[in-house]
Amino acid sequence: MTDRTYINDEEDLIQLSSLQHFVFCPRQCALIHIEQVWDENRLTAEGRIMHERVHEEGRESRGAIRIERGMPIRSLRLGLIGKTDVVEFHKIEGNKWQAFPVEYKRGKPKPDDCDKVQLCAQAICLEEMLNLSVPAGAIYYGKTHHRLDVEFNDPLRKETEEAASRTHALIQAGITPAPVYDKKCERCSLVTFCLPKAVGKKRSVQNYLLEARREG
Ligand code: SF4
Repeated sequence: MTDRTYINDEEDLIQLSSLQHFVFCPRQCALIHIEQVWDENRLTAEGRIMHERVHEEGRESRGAIRIERGMPIRSLRLGLIGKTDVVEFHKIEGNKWQAFPVEYKRGKPKPDDCDKVQLCAQAICLEEMLNLSVPAGAIYYGKTHHRLDVEFNDPLRKETEEAASRTHALIQAGITPAPVYDKKCERCSLVTFCLPKAVGKKRSVQNYLLEARREG
């Protein structure tokens, strides 16, 4: 774990969800968090409604588990602010409680770590705010009705801290990276706005002309 503090001023906090966007695709992150583009389609609308429902239901207790919904969180060390979907507090002994964040996703587990990084960032925020350790959490996927347990081990924590650092750098620079077409573009909510194939091709032509001019 690094001791680096990225911000001193709460105004410089960035949205915790930006890490998930960054790990999925830095261009998607820049389009949303620099250019403020958001294309509401059926999939994002379903995801938004799912989150709104999760946050609405408030606080409850189930035996040795207390459930907090829509809890505001932040980390000054990583420069992040956001809201959890659910934090379960499991009674472990006496008056001691173990925090266990649970994030709700509309779809299914993804090939990259973007969802795990988002959840791990929530754990780091909870650790900083509550001064306790958060060793694990879970992601519930609506499409598969499956809860995936996630251990916040050292490699995932390192990946999360690097993602926070790189996302801050991207947003501070304020420059949207060029698109690079990939299989994941087909499941990107911004594909119709980004046009990765067309813009990528256009850039190739621009590069070709620039190179030809330099050589000539
Ligand atoms: S369409 Fe592809 S390149 Fe464009 S923002 Fe989405 S994932 Fe990134």
